[in-house]
Amino acid sequence: MTLDIQRAGTIDQQSLFHPFTAITDLMADGPTIMATGKGVRITDIHGQEYLDGMAGLWCVNLGYGREEISAAMDAQSRRLSFFHAFNGMSIDVAVECAEELLKRAPVPMSRVFFGASGSDGNETQAKLIWYYNQLRGKPEKKKLICRWNSYHGSAVLTASMTGLPGMHSPFLLPMGPIVHTSAPYYYRKAPEGMSEREFSRHLAKELEELIEREGADTIGAFFAEAVMGAGGLIPPPEGYFEEIVPILRRHDILLVMDEVVSGYGRLGTYWGAQMYNVEPDLITSAKGVTSGYFPMSACFISPKVWDVIESNAAAAGLFGHGFTYSAHPVGAAAALASLRLIDEENILANVQQQSDYLFAQMRAAIGDHRAVGDIRGKGLMVGIELVKDRATKETLPMADRTGRQVLKAAAARGLITRALGDTLVFAPPLVINRAEVDELVDKFAAAVNDVLPA
Ligand code: PMP
Repeated sequence: MTLDIQRAGTIDQQSLFHPFTAITDLMADGPTIMATGKGVRITDIHGQEYLDGMAGLWCVNLGYGREEISAAMDAQSRRLSFFHAFNGMSIDVAVECAEELLKRAPVPMSRVFFGASGSDGNETQAKLIWYYNQLRGKPEKKKLICRWNSYHGSAVLTASMTGLPGMHSPFLLPMGPIVHTSAPYYYRKAPEGMSEREFSRHLAKELEELIEREGADTIGAFFAEAVMGAGGLIPPPEGYFEEIVPILRRHDILLVMDEVVSGYGRLGTYWGAQMYNVEPDLITSAKGVTSGYFPMSACFISPKVWDVIESNAAAAGLFGHGFTYSAHPVGAAAALASLRLIDEENILANVQQQSDYLFAQMRAAIGDHRAVGDIRGKGLMVGIELVKDRATKETLPMADRTGRQVLKAAAARGLITRALGDTLVFAPPLVINRAEVDELVDKFAAAVNDVLPA
């Protein structure tokens, strides 16, 4: 079987139902079909090379073509390609992986639960929260507080949790036990003249009012990404978690950190929880755990939650939750190889170094551009929000789809970015070097100027 390269675009249009794609765009522009990758670069079927400024979908943290990971997966798939962890069965490599993950947790954690995606990880967390509260005699503590602009997944519950109305309305999703609170979106949502710290206090006050209105005895957990990703690349304002967490503790509400993007070094600390000094009760991770080489999620469960589960085990009976691919051996092998590389290659130090350099170069290149409203982020998560008017922060006309135009101009120059509306984002592989950062910034600045001449 070989794909007819000349017809590949048409075949794609006629056969592949693309996730998160506007069908009209696909039909008008055709797909971009990738074929190979090495380091931070990928090449499409026609031989055009791109610097991948998004590490796939914020996941190929160690870069493409890593022999160490592929070889570990290959060896595992030959040794034992699949077995499961239901009914007390297990697999040696998954046991080793769970142990290695627990060693790396930001706070002492009791157990790891495996799945195959960030979405199923957060679905697992929701069910664990309900399970935990039921076991401790508080079954009514069921609501989940999530934030507008958050992204927690695309399954039914996690899409409802996600704070993007565009993901709710096409499906008339049942919002069920989900309550949303404001995003910590300082650039757009902070009242004029308010400092970041004051804005954090303002959001904390709003959260507390929400909790009191809903009734703390009906609320199970608060979900937060460390830095919001797909909802606009929004880092927390100064003091945000410091203000929020005591309120959750006071009302007996669990804190779930969704570290699907921020975990495994993306912010320059191993976990976002460490960057912001928080002690989560539950952590969802995925993506970087295998550097995107295998679909895998790992949920961390703290002693606080685990002890309730364990001490009620006899009465609770079977834990009726799991996926065929929970604890998949090839995923576990990919994860073990990735974890080893993160340590051996001192990835955190590289992220810190390249992050400082990337932000400095980006600000120098386009910080004064008339259409650049905000450059923000943390570690190797970078967002550039384009505006019509810097002074008033007036947005560009929606119909112009400027973000998409810049994305296309960047692609024509051999750079992959992502457009979240008119915020262009970068989350390159964590192995990116200085010369590649220079290339990313040069190509992006040129693309911005192609679309919006200075
Ligand atoms: N949480 C966050 C923070 C994410 O960014 C994503 C995906 N980008 C998910 C959850 C869902 O992960 P998946 O697409 O693997 O289901």
